[in-house]
Amino acid sequence: MALYSAAAAVLAGLERGDGGIKALVYSSGFPRVRQLYALVAETLRYAPVLDAVLDGAALLQAERKLPPHLAKVLVYDLLFGKGLQCGGRWKALARRHRARLRAELARLKVRRRVSRDEELLAPAAGAPAPALPRYVRVNTLKTCVEDVIDFFKRQGYSYLGKAASVEELSSLSGKKFLLDLHLPELLVFPPQTDFHNNQLYTSGHVILQDKASCLPAFLLSPAAGSHVIDACAAPGNKTSHVAAILKNKGQIFAFDLDTKRLATMNTMLMRAGVTSFELAQQDFLSVDPRASKYSKVTHILLDPSCSGSGMVTRLPTAEAAPGAERLQALAAFQRRILSHALSFPALRRLVYSTCSVQQEENEDVVQAVLQEQGSAFRLVNVLPSWPCRGLATFPGAECCLRASPAETLTQGFFVALLERCGEEAAACRP
Ligand code: SAM
Repeated sequence: MALYSAAAAVLAGLERGDGGIKALVYSSGFPRVRQLYALVAETLRYAPVLDAVLDGAALLQAERKLPPHLAKVLVYDLLFGKGLQCGGRWKALARRHRARLRAELARLKVRRRVSRDEELLAPAAGAPAPALPRYVRVNTLKTCVEDVIDFFKRQGYSYLGKAASVEELSSLSGKKFLLDLHLPELLVFPPQTDFHNNQLYTSGHVILQDKASCLPAFLLSPAAGSHVIDACAAPGNKTSHVAAILKNKGQIFAFDLDTKRLATMNTMLMRAGVTSFELAQQDFLSVDPRASKYSKVTHILLDPSCSGSGMVTRLPTAEAAPGAERLQALAAFQRRILSHALSFPALRRLVYSTCSVQQEENEDVVQAVLQEQGSAFRLVNVLPSWPCRGLATFPGAECCLRASPAETLTQGFFVALLERCGEEAAACRP
């Protein structure tokens, strides 16, 4: 795929909440990941300026076939980047509008009383994203925590033992690392530690996964031998975590709509040594809960598309709260897919999670679906030591977990564990 199309696809994925910038760039299949990352990051940094220029020049109205994300990338490169060195027919199109776009940029600078391009960026847009630790999940299908600790020690890292507090995680620096205080198979290294070329990562012995995104599988905790559905599974980090918890015993049915992400997922699961899975490119809403194949499904992990507003490694401009209309559409989809998941007859436990911080996609979805279910399911009060709870928008919402860079040193995240009534657990009724 050409550079500009690949960048536009990553921007679209970010907007849909398909993942963070790094994950999307790495799973794009584009060979020059650094170049792609830089172009996406810079386009995001300039996004408000690009929106203003595109609006002023009415480019999308003039070129109705030009996809909006691609327009942003092209105009970024034309005005602020390398000046459209590639791009085929799109390059010719953007060049036709070059004079108009440049004039619009000049007008914007006059209006904002600045002379340099950089001055157009609001201070917040230039601020660095909060530095989160590098979390490393040990893949227990291939190794164990002790062996991984020994490996890193041999690579010159000092192991400081199990962390006692979130503050301890935030004070890590240099070549030191800790065992996480909440998740038993998670190691914590200082921010920016890069293990993408480390042999433990390339061989699938460890998975680079944010701590918050390890919560869903950890909380679902299916017993070895269980049948589990991962309803919106790609690119599959949570699926591989579920497989590790199952010790590869049992069956995982994983669904996703996106072919490319499924291909990446397949490679990732093979690398992680996951054997007990079946991947399907299928709309989970079209999966028949009554099919005999799923008659033993007792656990479902549901991590649907969301606004992604909690992802801090997306650059600040991408974090802006999603518009009301988009939120409404996402929440309607999330309610529908959660209701559908709860209709599997043998289901006992379900984890609902998002990387969104919007109440509409989180507490509101859980509350609406629980109400619709009557007393069939209830919320489980998980991980009492977790400091950040669901917003108190309905009785029992505190059973849910929230995560944020400030309070838990993770991406912004939401997790709820639902259990069929009658199952043993400490439960909160909404
Ligand atoms: N759980 C994944 C992981 O940890 O790697 C991330 C999932 S991502 C937040 C949401 C995924 O849902 C996207 O890959 C998207 O393609 C998929 N998706 C959206 N609508 C879907 C549907 N109706 N059925 C199945 N998958 C869907």
